[in-house]
Order: sequence, then C-alpha cells, then structure tokens
Amino acid sequence: ATIFSAIDMAPRDPILGITEAFNADTNPAKINLGVGVYYDDNGKVPLLACVRKAEELLMEQPAPRTYLPIEGLAAYDAAVQELVFGAGSAIIQEKRAVTVQAIGGTGALKIGADFLQRFAPGSEVYISDPSWENHRALFESAGFTVNTYRYYDAATRGVDFAGMLADLKAMPKGAIVLLHACCHNPTGADITAAQWDDVIAAIGAGGLIPFLDMAYQGFGTGIAEDGAVVGKFAAAGGPLLISNSFSKSFSLYGERVGALSVVGASAEEAARLLSQLKRVVRTNYSNPPVHGGKVVALALTTPELRQLWEDELAGMRVRIKEMRNTFVQKLKEKAPAHDFEFVREQVGMFSYSGLTRQQVERLRLEHSIYAVDTGRICVAALNSKNIDRVIDAIAKVL
Ligand code: PMP
Repeated sequence: ATIFSAIDMAPRDPILGITEAFNADTNPAKINLGVGVYYDDNGKVPLLACVRKAEELLMEQPAPRTYLPIEGLAAYDAAVQELVFGAGSAIIQEKRAVTVQAIGGTGALKIGADFLQRFAPGSEVYISDPSWENHRALFESAGFTVNTYRYYDAATRGVDFAGMLADLKAMPKGAIVLLHACCHNPTGADITAAQWDDVIAAIGAGGLIPFLDMAYQGFGTGIAEDGAVVGKFAAAGGPLLISNSFSKSFSLYGERVGALSVVGASAEEAARLLSQLKRVVRTNYSNPPVHGGKVVALALTTPELRQLWEDELAGMRVRIKEMRNTFVQKLKEKAPAHDFEFVREQVGMFSYSGLTRQQVERLRLEHSIYAVDTGRICVAALNSKNIDRVIDAIAKVL
C-alpha cells in the first residue's frame, strides 16, 4: 500500500454528472437543459463574429508568445475596468480600482478568496441559499468557513428579501458577502434596484466586505444596466471585490477569460492591493494566458468590433427572453392548471422551474430530457426546434 491507496473517490460534480449521463444516452432526441452554456437556435455554441474578426486581426500580425505581466494584459485590464465600473467613472479616474486578468470567473473568485484569506483570515463567508455550487467549494478550499444567507423563496418563486436583509444585518463585522451582481445562478431571481440600495446600506452599516460575482453581464437588461450595481457599490465606499467573466458574454468558455477587480480607498492603497494580488497570482499560476485576453481587449476597444459584440450579446439576451415567453405560453396551453408566469420574470440563462426532483427524474428516464435535480433548467438551451418536445414532456410529468 502507498500513501495513495487510501484516497477515496471524490464525489462527482452534480452538473458535469448530468452531461456525462446525457452523453451516454443513445436516444437521438435527447435534450440537455442541465448545462450552463448559451446555445443558439440551432443548438450550437456560437462563435461570435466579433471574436472571429478580432482573431483575424490578430492573425494579420502574428506575435511571439512571451509571458504576460502577472496582472495580465494592460489593455485588457483597462477595458475590464471601463466595462465593470462604467467608462469615465470616478473610481477609474481616481485610480482606486486595480484589476488582474484571471483564468475565467472561477480563477477570479479563487484569486479573490486567496487574497482575502491573507488579509481577512478570521472572516466568515456568506453565499446565497442557493448559489452556484462552486462558490462554497472555492471559498472552503481557500480556508474559509462558508455560511448562507436567505435568498430564494420557493413559495413565492422569488427572493425572500426580508430574510436576506435580516441575515445581512445579523452578520458579524468583517464578514465576506458573496453577491450575484445580476442573473442569479441557479434561480434566475434577481433583486430590484431599490432592494440593492438596502443591501448596500446594510453592508456599509455592518462593516461587511462585499464580493460581487458578475458572470452574466449583458444577459439581464443590458451591459450598462447589469453593471450599474457595481457602480453603486463603488460609490458607497468601503472595500469591494468584483469577479467578472467573459465565458458567456463572448462565448469564450474554453479560453478562460475573466478578471478580478478590487477597489480601495485611494490610489496609494490600490497600488498596495495590486502588489498583493500579484503575489497571489504568482504563487498560483504565475501569469495568465494570452489569447483570450487579446481577443476580448481588441473587441472591447475597437469601435466596430465593440458594436458587433454589443449587438451579438443583445441577440443572445433577446433570444433567451423569447424562449421564456414561448415556454410560458406553450405551457399555458398544454398544462393550464399550472402557472409558470414567474419564468417570464426571471433573468439570465437559468430558471428555477419549480419542477421537483421526481419530475426531473421522470423527464430524464421517460423523455431523455436532462435538467438539474433542483429543477434548474438552462433557458439558453431551449430553441424553436426542441421546445415543443420539452413542453410536451413537462406537461406529462406535472
Ligand atoms: N460565477 C457564476 C455565478 C457562474 O455561473 C459561473 C459559470 N458557470 C462562474 C462564476 C464561472 O465562470 P467561468 O466559467 O468563467 O469560470
């Protein structure tokens, strides 16, 4: 026996497990609604034209693959700041924010978690109940105890905002609060602008550390509208961390493009924060990859490509909204006794559909339609060709 022979098998990732089961299903009419990926109306992951054009521009001037700086491509970091805080915002002008390119949104969360573990080691972390599964695991693996605050209310199919606010007010000073900036994953239920004001006030009054995770900017109401909450937090002062991801908004999942931004009280403080963030990056993977960062920086800063991106992202956002409406309308016809109106109000790629574990199981076993056990479906995996089959199957299992 070696030191390895006693190691247990780790539990399977619940979402990737669905994809494995889906791949093994031989039914040609199978449908995977368990994923966290945007598909177009033909059921394909799009290659955005803005990405293809940016890559063509890069190909015209092939460059050697030197190392990037530890904090990533300067043009990328600057473009991220403009997007996240809003072009010309005071935070940028005052140089109070620092941004490091990260390996996707996940990498950004991990850098943030490791950074906080160095400088706020005694703090506990609070995530929404429920949240993206990896939030808990990421912060626990960085050494934190992870708790939840009330968020989703199955009875109203919306946010238990009174519960959320009460939990925020009861958190110990210095606690780290992870918030979904928009398009809450997995529920699709967001809070309103007025409710954000209350959240920001409670966080300020309680001396809490907000960590905004923005993986779906542009999938809710619009790029600026979805990002507005970041500006509100920044204006309120106090420490702030923001992880953002271009996996979905640029359909660049495998290139791993994201960033972590941290806001300090002054330019001088921000410089110290950056020096420490670089240390975290250096000891994790030294520096980020080149290609995705270059593509995104070029697309964000070249006017023609920028316009193309905004149009293509709007196209994805609108198609998801259309699928929500079609889903609700068709279910109204096929299952009039059930009210799915709430699906229209949800935002982003996901919907907590209200389907029970048993119903999800029947969808899988009897119809080869795959969803998450919690009833989460990816609305962005619905299309004009598969929706009727999905609706028929749901009507049968209700
Ligand atoms: N945060 C949330 C809420 C997410 O849904 C995701 C992606 N599923 C991420 C972070 C991670 O993004 P990335 O794939 O860029 O690592």
